[in-house]
Amino acid sequence: MPVKYNRTKKKWQLTDSNDNVIASSNAGLIGKTEIELKELELNAPTLYILATAFGKDNLRFMHRLIRAANVVRAGDVYKVPEKRSAANYRSREVVRSQSDRDVYYNVEFNYGAYSCNCEDFERGATMHLEGYGQVCSHALASHLAYCSGIYLDDAPRGAKNDHT
Ligand SMILES: [Zn+2]
Repeated sequence: MPVKYNRTKKKWQLTDSNDNVIASSNAGLIGKTEIELKELELNAPTLYILATAFGKDNLRFMHRLIRAANVVRAGDVYKVPEKRSAANYRSREVVRSQSDRDVYYNVEFNYGAYSCNCEDFERGATMHLEGYGQVCSHALASHLAYCSGIYLDDAPRGAKNDHT
């Protein structure tokens, strides 16, 4: 179900496969986010519940959560099995870039904090699930996948870099 901007009506719209409008909202980031959330609610309810729980009252963070949810839905979060351990509260995932399909990022969760080797994160982003500060979409995608219990495939061969 695509989310589209209708230039004639100046509205963000969610349409079904027959191009019928299911929901519409005003132009701008608020309207776009409302329609993207509606789409998530209809098609990925667990991710919708998580996104609204984490992103409440913070539009920019919500927008990033929706992007992260779509990374999870695309099947672009992979586990790194040899590093995963519930006992020491540590996990590691590989997340495929949405803009460059040849690029994979390493996300680590270590004693309560996420880190990622993407540029967003290395520029000084810090991980606060409450929505403060800047959070990269890869770490968020890992978190949403983990919280929703979505099964993660093993990282594709060659996707792991030398980040140890
Ligand atoms: Zn990242």
